[in-house]
Amino acid sequence: MLHQAVILVGGRGTRLGALTDDTPKPLLPVGGRPFLAYLIDELFRQGFNDILLLAGYRGDRIERFCQEMLRPGLRLRCMTEPEPAGTGGALRTVSDQLEAQFLLLNGDTLFDINLNDFSTPPLSADGDVLARMALRRVPDTARYGSIVLESSRIVAMLEKGPAGKGLINGGIYLLDRRAVDRLPPSPCSIETDLFPLLAAEGAIEGRVYDRFFLDIGVPDDFALAQSAIPASRRRKAAFFDRDGVLNEDIGFAHRPDQITWMPGARKAVKRLNDAGFLVFVVTNQGGVARGLYGEEHVRTLHRWMQEELRAVGAHVDAFYHCPHHPDHGKAPYRTDCRCRKPEPGMLLQAMAEWPVEPLGSFLVGDRETDVQAAQRAGIEGTLHLGGDLDALVAGILARSGTGTEVETAR
Ligand SMILES: [Mg+2]
Repeated sequence: MLHQAVILVGGRGTRLGALTDDTPKPLLPVGGRPFLAYLIDELFRQGFNDILLLAGYRGDRIERFCQEMLRPGLRLRCMTEPEPAGTGGALRTVSDQLEAQFLLLNGDTLFDINLNDFSTPPLSADGDVLARMALRRVPDTARYGSIVLESSRIVAMLEKGPAGKGLINGGIYLLDRRAVDRLPPSPCSIETDLFPLLAAEGAIEGRVYDRFFLDIGVPDDFALAQSAIPASRRRKAAFFDRDGVLNEDIGFAHRPDQITWMPGARKAVKRLNDAGFLVFVVTNQGGVARGLYGEEHVRTLHRWMQEELRAVGAHVDAFYHCPHHPDHGKAPYRTDCRCRKPEPGMLLQAMAEWPVEPLGSFLVGDRETDVQAAQRAGIEGTLHLGGDLDALVAGILARSGTGTEVETAR
């Protein structure tokens, strides 16, 4: 699976005037945080944990920011170009550090898409297509430049779009490393030198997403971003019990070879990712207290499940497990805890650690104790006793009107 993302953070941001005199545009504060922090959060939660920042102007500040953003499981590096060589030149200088395929993001736009859907399936390793671009439909392309899409191929990139509705570049790309070899001599720009060249050869695919999009490089949108971006981070959440809901309940499963996905389970998670929900797993693992397996087995299994999900364009934002039991095993696992369902501890922890909007959030479980945990956490709980999980989730979304909701910045 794809784990690498490269973010272009060398932009000077001249359109924003004095704001960027001493600060690279991606570090400008938005709702009290550097804009770039939102991009890194978004990548990391969706499983892209190897992030390379390509810095130029005031690269020292980007490097300091990297230190502040470090967290377990995240590899975050910054490369500052010695002299301005354009976005293309910057990418070429790190070509030996690039995976065969990787995500590339503009550091001054936020496009709220399911990145695992976007990168699935990967580009064919020996095919003619070297790039995929995420596209946004807008009411007026005039200020952006527009993209001409024919079936799934980009056939033209117009620098100034005609007035009226159309498609624009959403600033997120899937790139084959072979595309880097096609860069013209430095200095050069990926957007204005490489992509038009590839488009002329039919070597770029486009995928359209009607999701929240904002470009902070434009003064009006930078002002709008101050409230719109923090508000857009607040999401409804879906909580899933694991055994008997996502995978068949065989009793104390703790290894990948013991996991059989339930019908529609992975599709259901993807549907929620596509709709902008946070997705959590909340699972009682009393087998740990009983000494049948360790917490490291639980974590390893969940990492495996995550990669299985990502292969079909889905992801879980966090797995929470309760290793305790009131009557079995030894301390510290033998205890009356607050996390074992029907107690709501795992749900409350997720709601404290993530920007969850409780209204419209829900849990799906296969036992009454699951539903009770949901009720105690103040959200809706649904009992799922078999059948297609995706159909159940589609029904829940349709009833709440979420399935058809299109979020826009303007
Ligand atoms: Mg269960």
